[in-house]
Amino acid sequence: AKPIVAVVGRPNVGKSTLFNKLIGQRLSIVEDTPGVTRDRIYAPCEWRGKQFMLVDTGGIEPKTDDVILKQMRRQAQIAIDTADVTILLTDMKDGLTATDHEVADMLLKTGKPIVLCVNKCDSVGEPPLEFYEFYNLGLGEPIQISAAHGHGTGDLLDAVFDLL
Ligand code: GDP
Ligand code: MG
Repeated sequence: AKPIVAVVGRPNVGKSTLFNKLIGQRLSIVEDTPGVTRDRIYAPCEWRGKQFMLVDTGGIEPKTDDVILKQMRRQAQIAIDTADVTILLTDMKDGLTATDHEVADMLLKTGKPIVLCVNKCDSVGEPPLEFYEFYNLGLGEPIQISAAHGHGTGDLLDAVFDLL
């Protein structure tokens, strides 16, 4: 079976946009409303000759009473549990949030390799100062990407490749 790579993070950081960019099709629904992807969506991917299954998840809100957000978190947990590598996606526009820390803790509990990625770095070159906050997650050097523009996705795939 192909290894599984799951895209996780809180709602609205751009997981579905990244998923669609990486698989080259618009399979996943991208929405301005947080939490539009409710279920897991799988698609085959290949990078430098290595094949894997990419999984989009609905997003994780650790502390919520909302029934739909709870269901999304359950789905995301299943994706995390079955994944060989997880991509933790965060959002440059929002900066580092408490929820990012909570999602990182969920991922660290699995003991599986994590690639930390900061999305919405829309301008290429030196990242803004706030980018360096993401080092505080303790997951190593964050990879700056713009899922919408496609910047940095090659670096991200290279990092995933090394962990497969
Ligand atoms: P998800 O909830 O994590 O799956 O997030 P979506 O992929 O649905 O995206 C949420 C919002 O962020 C949408 O309005 C996207 O157009 C926007 N978005 C996604 N990637 C980028 C990016 O690289 N730059 C900017 N500026 N916006 C983005
Ligand atoms: Mg989504």
